[in-house]
Amino acid sequence: MTSSKSEPKPVLLWFRKDLRLDDNHALRAAVTSGRPIVPIYIQEPEAKGCGPLGAAQQWWLHHSLAALEKSLHELGSKLVLRTGDALSVIQKLAEETDAEAIVWNRRYDPAGMAVDMDIKKSLRDAGFEANSFAGQLLHEPSRVRTGTGNPYKTYTPFWRALEQSGEPPFPIDAPETLEAPSRWPQSDSLGSWGLLPTKPNWASDFYDMWTPGEAAAREKLTDFIESSLDSYAVDRDFPDKPATSLLSPHLALGEISPARIWHATRGLPKHIPTDNIVRFRKELAWREFCYHQLFHFPKLNSANWNDRYDDFPWRSDATLFDSWRRGQTGYPIVDAGMRQLWRHGWMHNRVRMIVASFLIKDLLIDWREGETWFRDTLVDADPAANAANWQWVAGSGADASPFFRIFNPVLQGEKFDADGGYIRTFVPELADLDGKYIHRPFEAPDDVLKRAGIRLGEHYPRPIVDHAVARRRALEAHASLKTE
Ligand code: FAD
Repeated sequence: MTSSKSEPKPVLLWFRKDLRLDDNHALRAAVTSGRPIVPIYIQEPEAKGCGPLGAAQQWWLHHSLAALEKSLHELGSKLVLRTGDALSVIQKLAEETDAEAIVWNRRYDPAGMAVDMDIKKSLRDAGFEANSFAGQLLHEPSRVRTGTGNPYKTYTPFWRALEQSGEPPFPIDAPETLEAPSRWPQSDSLGSWGLLPTKPNWASDFYDMWTPGEAAAREKLTDFIESSLDSYAVDRDFPDKPATSLLSPHLALGEISPARIWHATRGLPKHIPTDNIVRFRKELAWREFCYHQLFHFPKLNSANWNDRYDDFPWRSDATLFDSWRRGQTGYPIVDAGMRQLWRHGWMHNRVRMIVASFLIKDLLIDWREGETWFRDTLVDADPAANAANWQWVAGSGADASPFFRIFNPVLQGEKFDADGGYIRTFVPELADLDGKYIHRPFEAPDDVLKRAGIRLGEHYPRPIVDHAVARRRALEAHASLKTE
């Protein structure tokens, strides 16, 4: 299958974690090259490149690819799906289409970067044109460094450096048409990839919460700015309020660029107080800081950033771990969070911190176990944000929360879900419990429990650990570590 002599040879446009047409620098390069464009997505094998995502994110990927396919179709183009080792697939597609160039947007997870470096070298050695572009982050991680040229270890100076490096590049709009090749190579069918769960279909409730794809991401950004940004700084900590952007899963697969989000927060009407805008930008900057850590410490999801924690006396207890995963710990805020994760593939940030602290400090289970479970169940699973935040809670990470700051799950619940609305949504067996005991059912008198139709140990578990005892045990475990 070769293109005719008069037609310029096609360029392959390789989509990865940038499933959008808007603000896509590789796409723009392909368009300006004047060549016909062959958009491709490769399902890469295990532990390489985009290698299998967690189960919840595979659900997202399916719908995101379908949305991308549709948008490409509207521009007169297609999306070619292939499976296999990326280099071999690209070489084969180049042969089939007679393409002599490929473009992609860079990714920053260690496995993906290693694959990309090899591919670029092999293709260039073979006389092929291979170019990569920025787009996953506000600023390239190699650019942001301290005055002495080292990576940042703490967030505040990192944020200052980001502010000083100026605004991220202005986002570019999607093209209006795409030149198609004279003949299309064959594509896998998306359905044949089996990305959606079937028996059982544990993702059925995801549809109530999410619409994957770049159009939905843009809509969500607009809604958030119009309805929630003006009280973001305060309300973002309350899991029962619709106060945060819910953009994380869209960002995770690149359906919207961080630069698009950043620039949407400029020039806003005066009724939106600046502190809310700054606070929101600072969260986007946390995402950058997580990638900064991953870029400079590729083992972020498997090794302690601070090796002092290498000797931490973790406990291995499959029964306790299972109670945590299933939201059956007897602490309502922890259980609500874990069940929100299962039902919607997402959990509110405040509650992520509470459940992570509970696993690590109350149960003394290694943070890596929690990171792995989140990776499989979150629709926004992100190699940098997930690992960096788990290490942050564990105290082993860069600029981490000190280990001795151990969340009390009852007090956290009472502070951030005072009327128990979040608990009542995700732990329905407690829905009729008097508000005074909603975060501490184990202290409720028998008649209160009876009125709410609850028998502890039957309808809802008794606490699997006593928090006061667990807290002391955690502090002792921490004290056993060598001092720095
Ligand atoms: P918003 O409050 O609207 O924030 C806007 C964006 O800023 C988010 O979409 C996200 O991209 C970024 N952001 C916000 N908070 C953080 C943060 N603490 N760290 C890094 N980026 C942040 N976020 C992920 O995107 N993927 C993960 O796998 C992930 N794992 C986490 C694990 C733990 C244990 C904890 C404590 C946090 C984790 N986070 C993760 C961070 C945070 O919880 C989510 O980004 C946030 O809840 C997403 O909701 P939102 O889009 O409504 O956030």
